[in-house]
Parts: sequence; C-alpha cells; structure tokens
Amino acid sequence: MPDLFFTEEHDMLRQSVREFVEKELAPHAEEWEAEGYFPDWVFKRMGELGYLGLHYPEEIGGGGGDYFTNIVLCEELSRSGCGGLTMGIMVQIGMATPPILKFGTQEQIEKYLIPAIKGEKIACLGITEPGAGSDVASIATFAEKVDGGYRINGNKIFITNGYRADFMTLVARTEKVKGYKGMTIFLVDTKTPGFVVSRKLDKVGMRASDTAEIFFEDMFVPDDAVLGEVGRGFYNIMWELQGERLIGAAGSIAGAKLTLEMGIQYAKERVQFGKPIIQNQAIAHRIADLAAEIEAVQALVYWTAWKYDHGEYPVKEISMAKLLSAQLAFKVADEVMQFMGGYGYMMEYPAQLAWRDARLGRIGGGTDEIQREIIVTTLGLYK
Ligand SMILES: Cc1cc2nc3c(=O)[nH]c(=O)nc-3n(C[C@H](O)[C@H](O)[C@H](O)COP(=O)(O)OP(=O)(O)OC[C@H]3O[C@@H](n4cnc5c(N)ncnc54)[C@H](O)[C@@H]3O)c2cc1C
Repeated sequence: MPDLFFTEEHDMLRQSVREFVEKELAPHAEEWEAEGYFPDWVFKRMGELGYLGLHYPEEIGGGGGDYFTNIVLCEELSRSGCGGLTMGIMVQIGMATPPILKFGTQEQIEKYLIPAIKGEKIACLGITEPGAGSDVASIATFAEKVDGGYRINGNKIFITNGYRADFMTLVARTEKVKGYKGMTIFLVDTKTPGFVVSRKLDKVGMRASDTAEIFFEDMFVPDDAVLGEVGRGFYNIMWELQGERLIGAAGSIAGAKLTLEMGIQYAKERVQFGKPIIQNQAIAHRIADLAAEIEAVQALVYWTAWKYDHGEYPVKEISMAKLLSAQLAFKVADEVMQFMGGYGYMMEYPAQLAWRDARLGRIGGGTDEIQREIIVTTLGLYK
C-alpha cells in the first residue's frame, strides 16, 4: 500500500542518508559526545552531499524537495546516536536559514543562504536573551539607527552553533517601545567587530552541540543587514518558530522510536527470575502503551507537516505536536532507563544519553507551558 506521506524518492533519500550516518557519523558519536563538540567538517560534508538544502529550491542549489525530505533527514540523523549533532544541523537548515529564503533579498540569499546550503557557512539563530526567554516580546537587544546602518548593543544566551557560526540570524529591537512592535531581524557576520562570544555553555544533554552566550558591543551593521521589513521582526520570527517547532517535534518522535527499540531489545535479552524481563506483563504492557502513544503522536506530526507543506499555517497543531512529542520522548527515555535498571543509569549504556538529550525537547523552541498557552489561545479558551 502506498505510504500517505513518503514516496519512493523519500525512501531512496532515507537509504542514502542512513548509509552516510552509519559510515561517517555514528562511528564518531561517542567521541563527539565526550568532547562536547562535533567537528565543522560535518557541515561541509553534508553540504557536498546536498543534505543541507533538501527543501530549498534547485535554483539556489537546493534539492527542490518537499518538507518531508527534511523530516527524513532528521529521522535518519537521529540514528547517529549524537543528538547534539542532529540539533546543530537542524538549527542550520530548519531554524536559522528559512527566514533568509522567506524574507531575504537576492544579495542576502547569495551571501548567506547559498553558502549555508553548501555547508561553507554555519548559521545560528539569536532570539533568546537572559531577560527574554519564553517572553520573546521582551527582547532588549537594541539596534540604534545610525548613518548607513545600525549600532547594536545587548546579548543573547543559549545560542546553538553560536560558538562556531559564521553568521547569526539575529532578532533585535529597533524602536524603544515595549512589546512585540518595533523589532527587526538582522543577518550578522560573526566576525563583525563587537560580536563577542563570551562563553561556551556546559549542558546536561545534547552535549555535542555547542551552545554560546554572545554579547554585542557597539556592533555596527550596514543597512543591508536588515532581513525583511524593519519593525516586522516579531511577526517574522513567530513564522520561523513554527518551522523550528515542527522539525523539533519530528526529531523528538524519531528519538522516542529509537529509544523504545533499544528498550525492547534490552528487555528481550535481560534475564531475571529465569526469564527475559519482557515476559513480565508489567513491562510488556508498558511497552505496548508507549508503542501506541508513539504511533498516535507520529501520525499527528506527519499530518501537521503535511498541512504545513501544503501551505497551511497550522499553529495549533504544531504546538500540539511539539508538546506531545517532547513529553513522549522524555517519558519513553525514562521508562527505558527503568527497564534497564542500574545499567540504565550507567554512563556506559546509551539509555542515559537518550534521557539527557530528550529532556531538552520540553524546553527548547518554546517550553511545554508556552505550547499549552498557544493551544489555549488558538482554542479561544481565554476569550
Ligand atoms: C540547549 C539549548 C539550546 C537552545 N538554542 C537556542 C538557540 O539556538 N537560539 C535561541 O534563540 N534560543 C535557544 N534556546 C533557548 C530556548 O528557546 C529557551 O530556553 C526557552 O524558550 C525558554 O526560555 P527560558 O530558558 O528563558 O525560560 P523562561 O522563559 O524563564 O521560563 C522558565 C519557566 O517558566 C515557565 N513560564 C514562563 N512563562 C510562562 C507562562 N506565561 N505561563 C506558564 N509558565 C511560564 C516556562 O515554561 C519555564 O518552565 C536554547 C535553549 C537550550 C536549553
């Protein structure tokens, strides 16, 4: 029976990404996790293979594929066993660069997007600040209009790829007004004087991705660094967040599936009281529940992605998919750690890795609570 969402082309893509992941990434996963960094050549190599632009138009060097090509990539990268790598790559293709295609000029596409698709430039996205996390409208980084451009002061925190990026898609305030008005997006070269990476942050999970705190100290950017319309930054970044949450949901559910497979395998092999532990209904039934929940949430993620790919703007469904997939990924990881007993708690077994990595899904890209707020609002419950 034909698949509702995936074609033969998707299957072929899946096969080739899987081979690449197995041969070139997975063998290094442990080392990169331990080092807390995956090397920059991964971007270059993935660019050469065409994997960084699957969903971008062919005219600018992309693959011209639909949104499901990115989902295939995300699902297969999850098999690398290096969640931080998947996150770093997804920030490049699904978060920091889509606004360039959507709002950018031809010059900006040539200067930033095309090299990003080739893996020659690494991108990061700068929204979060110490005083503005969930409340994006309270961003304080200020871009003052000066002759020929803007002088930017402020700082950003928790920036994935921020330590190594060549450019940042940066959200700043261009008017001294409160709230969501008067914000603008900029494309900023990280070598610009005044762009200061102050520190690389140490994290619980996703350790192979780099996360930075960044300061802007009287950083001058020219007028043509403005991405999209001046003053429309908040609306434009809300658009970006939809894609970010959707690909995050796809990553979470892919991780949940792989983690459950690992748990099933372990429960079949581990013998206690003279039989494999999976032969206990207490465990088998929990696996049945988790498998059923994964199917349901996976269907929601694919269906939402289908709508998004067909031009809809399904904000409610995206938040629902993000909320449920992130919660489920962590629940599965926690259950699998439980199936594995003391071994699950040991660093030499991968359950702890899944547990630590999956926890981020409930925070990054908008927390569980914020997704619930969006669902509540779209359902009109506060009216
Ligand atoms: C590893 C990592 C990578 C990240 N990468 C990036 C990146 O590349 N770029 C970027 O810009 N950001 C990035 N972030 C930031 C991330 O998006 C924020 O951490 C997230 O949006 C939450 O903001 P906060 O941490 O300031 O928490 P806060 O907003 O301070 O929230 C604290 C708690 O209060 C709750 N809360 C807040 N408001 C409400 C409310 N109205 N109702 C109920 N509960 C509420 C939250 O849900 C949360 O539980 C990253 C974060 C991490 C941890």
